[in-house]
Amino acid sequence: MTRPRRPSLATLYADLNAQFWQGALVPTLPRGLYVATRYHRAVVVQRRGFRTDGAGLCSGFLQATGCSRALGLFRPPGQFRPAHIHVMSPLAREEERQTLLHEMVHCYLYFAGFPAEGHGPRFIAELERLASRGEAWAAEEATRWVNNLVGAPPRS
Ligand SMILES: [Zn+2]
Repeated sequence: MTRPRRPSLATLYADLNAQFWQGALVPTLPRGLYVATRYHRAVVVQRRGFRTDGAGLCSGFLQATGCSRALGLFRPPGQFRPAHIHVMSPLAREEERQTLLHEMVHCYLYFAGFPAEGHGPRFIAELERLASRGEAWAAEEATRWVNNLVGAPPRS
């Protein structure tokens, strides 16, 4: 008996986009096909291997985006590159799915005109919306970010 292959992350993204946002999120772009495409309204979605040197995942990106979910990242588009979502690999399926959903919320808010939202109130509201659609983990995570908002020191 063959084990079914895990769908590509782009396929999973498309499914979750349809399920939770009625397809409102930007479409995915194949990796590497950036030239002469309208990449400013699209995202490259890919798995990335864990680093083995202990350096952790893309800490510069995490600082830049303010995302501390250490297993994934959303990187906004730059002048010459599209937005990216990276999810560490290998992860258990459910962890991968939740990590992708978390990064999709960042992606959704960025393209909805809230580039500096981080894990702020709109982010929390999206998590709560996901929770109301059956994603129990999102409720727990929303609570964590609410506490973070309340307890956060003023930004310098
Ligand atoms: Zn985040």
